Amino acid sequence: MKTSMQYRISRESSMTLVSLTMTTPLDDAASVLGDLAKELAKDSGPIVFDVAGVSYFNSPAIRGWVLFVEALDRPYSFRRCSSYFIEYGNMAQQIFGAGTVESLHVPYRCAACNEDFEVLEMVDSLSGRDDLPVAPCPQCRASTPAVVTASDFLFFLGT
Ligand SMILES: [Zn+2]
Repeated sequence: MKTSMQYRISRESSMTLVSLTMTTPLDDAASVLGDLAKELAKDSGPIVFDVAGVSYFNSPAIRGWVLFVEALDRPYSFRRCSSYFIEYGNMAQQIFGAGTVESLHVPYRCAACNEDFEVLEMVDSLSGRDDLPVAPCPQCRASTPAVVTASDFLFFLGT
């Protein structure tokens, strides 16, 4: 059976980096997250979740995920969040748990050539802004505004 949720753990000095992918409807989220929790229990120190590869959630996965982050007893943060993860989190903030978001992907669609692209931004550089940055289309270089507004997309910051 193809599993649609996968993780990779690496250790960088004092922190544990967990790269996660979730792509299609998953029934195995609880068992995958159970394995991950066991792996993480082997050490201590802050955890950084790289969630660039999270492009799908369904209700069982959400339930499992929320229980998983609530059970973490060490500091954690989210890096390279997919725009999907952020938009889902704006509707259901429990998916961030007590974690902070370090960086995220802002979605763009070029009006000239219809190209969809995303740009990685640090949250610190966006917070307090009224508008998200305009970005050059990778295909035609046209200046492209984000497809989301700062107030909607950065809602989770609570500012
Ligand atoms: Zn373009």
